[in-house]
Amino acid sequence: MLINLNRIRETLGEELWQAAQAVSAKGGVRETDATAEQSVCIVATDPPHRTVLSAGGRHSCTCAYFGQHGLCLHIAAAAMTAKQNGTLNRLEHTRARSAAPALLNVMESALPEESTVKLEVLLVREPREGTQCPGLRMGLRIGEKRLYVVRSLPQLLESIDRGTILSFGKGFTFHGEWMRFSPADERVLNLLRTLFSAAPQQTEELRGRDLRLVSLPEPFAEGLLSMLEETAYRFGTEEENEPGQPVR
Ligand SMILES: [Zn+2]
Repeated sequence: MLINLNRIRETLGEELWQAAQAVSAKGGVRETDATAEQSVCIVATDPPHRTVLSAGGRHSCTCAYFGQHGLCLHIAAAAMTAKQNGTLNRLEHTRARSAAPALLNVMESALPEESTVKLEVLLVREPREGTQCPGLRMGLRIGEKRLYVVRSLPQLLESIDRGTILSFGKGFTFHGEWMRFSPADERVLNLLRTLFSAAPQQTEELRGRDLRLVSLPEPFAEGLLSMLEETAYRFGTEEENEPGQPVR
């Protein structure tokens, strides 16, 4: 079984389960992207979060609780709704098909073993109009040995979430299907997911430098700084930067 609601209830505890039921019952789960492999939903809590239920079993949510526990009320709400509206059947169907032995063999031989990709954060401080307090932008570099600048952060997230390929020139190709990140780097990616899904319209309108160096409003800036203990980062400008000191 792809999703066992009873097990989710047991693991989550009664209080969060009830909260999830309330959100699901009032229609607070909206599917924004539906494929045979996954169901992407916005769950209308305050603040809203974005969940992915996947036929492959790698579910995810943008909330911090999920980052720590691997399960949350958003996943529960999305799963309940998915059971009611047939989404779960669709994912189960995909899973059953891909688990057919012949297919499995083909897939196993075609897919390299999972590998871990490195991320490095670039922090750029810049003056903001009308205040002494500078704003913060962040960019990412990605790679296995050498690191490459991510030209569009929304595009990287899409590649991860959809399991597609993103090329970084000759040196590196990111395969969303099987490349993985360390838990600390996942948290950084989750922060970006939350940022982008909080304002999808604005994200669509990002161009050029704003795509690779996104402006972090509070409390995202603070959230990111608290993550830098475990994630590699550099500080400065795009042209000139140096490795960051431990934050704490
Ligand atoms: Zn969540």
